[in-house]
Amino acid sequence: MINLILFGPPGSGKGTQAAKLVSKYHLYHISTGDMFREELENNSSLGIEAKSYMDKGQLVPDSVTIAMLRKRVQDNTDVNGFIFDGFPRTAPQAEALDELMESMGYHISGLIELSVSKDEIVERLKKRALSSGRADDANEDTIRNRYQVYLDKTTPVADYYEAKGKAHKVKGIGSIDSIFEKLCDTIDTM
Ligand code: AMP
Repeated sequence: MINLILFGPPGSGKGTQAAKLVSKYHLYHISTGDMFREELENNSSLGIEAKSYMDKGQLVPDSVTIAMLRKRVQDNTDVNGFIFDGFPRTAPQAEALDELMESMGYHISGLIELSVSKDEIVERLKKRALSSGRADDANEDTIRNRYQVYLDKTTPVADYYEAKGKAHKVKGIGSIDSIFEKLCDTIDTM
C-alpha cells in the first residue's frame, strides 16, 4: 500500500499531478479543498461554514477538517492506497493523520513537496481564476493571503515528516510530464 502526501503551496500543481498519479498507481485521491467545494455545491451546513474561511483564503478549522477527512478514509478501506492533496495543512492535522493511519494499520509512505516560487504561484492562480470560477483565485490579496497561510501554518507539516525521514522535494516548474516523471522517480525510491 502506498499512502502519499502531495504537498506544496496553492497553485503548485498538486491537483494536476494527483490525477496522473492516481491513474498510474491506482490510488484513492482525497482533496480536502474539492470536498469542501462539493459540500458547498450541495449547500450543506459544512459547505456554508467552510466557505466563510475559503473566501478569505483562511484555513477551515482543524476539528471540522479532520472529522471530514477521517470519515472519507474510513469509508474507503478497499483501496491500494491514498493520495492526500491539500491535507494535512497544519501540524495538528499531520498528527491526526498519523494517528488515523496507525489505527487502521496503515502508514504514510512519504510526503512530496512541489516547490514553486511565490511570484510564479500568484501568476498561475490569477490565470487559473479565468477558468476555475473559484472566488479564492479571483482576488490577488486572497491569493497572497493563502500563500502566507501556507508559509505560517502549513510548512511545519513538511518539517514534521522531515523529522521522520519521509519528506521529499521535487521542483514544480517545467512541463506537466517532466514534473510527473520526477514524482514517479521519487515514489519508486520509497
Ligand atoms: P485547495 O483547493 O486545496 O486550494 O483548498 C481551498 C481552500 O479550502 C483552502 O484555502 C482552505 O480554506 C480550505 N481547505 C482545504 N483543505 C484544507 C485543510 N486541510 N485544512 C483547512 N482548510 C482547508
